Amino acid sequence: MRNVRRLFLRCLRLGHRRKFTYLNLVTDYLRYGRLCLVSLTHNSFTNSDVVIESLFEPVYWLVDHVTRWFGIVFVALVILLTSSIVLIVYICVLPLILQTYSTGWICWHLTYGHWNLILIVFHYYKAITTPPGYPPQAQKNTPSVSVCRKCIAPKPARTHHCSICNRCILKMDHHCPWLNNCVGHYNHRYFFSFCLFMTLGCIYCSISSRVMFREAYAAIEKMKHHEAERLQLAGNETYSQTPPPAFSFRERVFHKCIIYLWVLCSSVAVALGALTLWHAMLITRGETSIERHINKKERKRLQGKGKVSDLRALLSILGYLY
Ligand SMILES: [Zn+2]
Ligand SMILES: [Zn+2]
Repeated sequence: MRNVRRLFLRCLRLGHRRKFTYLNLVTDYLRYGRLCLVSLTHNSFTNSDVVIESLFEPVYWLVDHVTRWFGIVFVALVILLTSSIVLIVYICVLPLILQTYSTGWICWHLTYGHWNLILIVFHYYKAITTPPGYPPQAQKNTPSVSVCRKCIAPKPARTHHCSICNRCILKMDHHCPWLNNCVGHYNHRYFFSFCLFMTLGCIYCSISSRVMFREAYAAIEKMKHHEAERLQLAGNETYSQTPPPAFSFRERVFHKCIIYLWVLCSSVAVALGALTLWHAMLITRGETSIERHINKKERKRLQGKGKVSDLRALLSILGYLY
């Protein structure tokens, strides 16, 4: 009996030992796996921002690719819409100006209209074809403030990485889908001039065609009224009254073109005018759109610490101002 008990206890001990061996083996494998993962992913610069950025990487990739492809569609849209407005002005508005206006006004419209059109075309062409400016590749001693994590290359001051162009851009302002190009050091002036002259052109077209728009709007309302009357008379089957004269196809197209011209030009004038004013304000401050955002964040951070971040405030303390 004693022998049986001893044998049973030995078996139990062996089972324990085997169980412990398996447990140790699993723990070792887990430790090894963790070590491999940490050694593969360890980076002393890793923080919460990098982790979030890595998690959203597929979303960024999708947005960047869609924007890259849509850039071509947007450029085609700008060319198509501008051409349609120019065509309407030449076909519908200009003949009326030539027929009704005095010689002085005709000269003014012809000179200003064509001058504005040439400037729009020239600045748009230059804005889409001029490279925004890239950091020099060959020079090793370029003064840089940081290293771009995407290009693994030194980043000179005021340079930012554009994920759509997949390059670092000198004095980057923003990536413009309407230009399918980045706005940077070398094409910022063309971008701003294009916005300015496009706004001026849209204001000019809206003001010039405002009377025609009112007439076209009234004509379209009349058209709808006539159509309703004709339907009513056709329903009566008596034909005692003569139906009102219908508008010809040419008249209908003419009025609709004028409405399209005025609505599009006014909307673009308001939206692009606001954007132009915003960029004019940034230029007076010597900031790009990205720097405006960074400076605002930095100003808030330093103000929270009770430090002076504004140059004006700093100069006033030092006695250079006031
Ligand atoms: Zn870069
Ligand atoms: Zn870009």
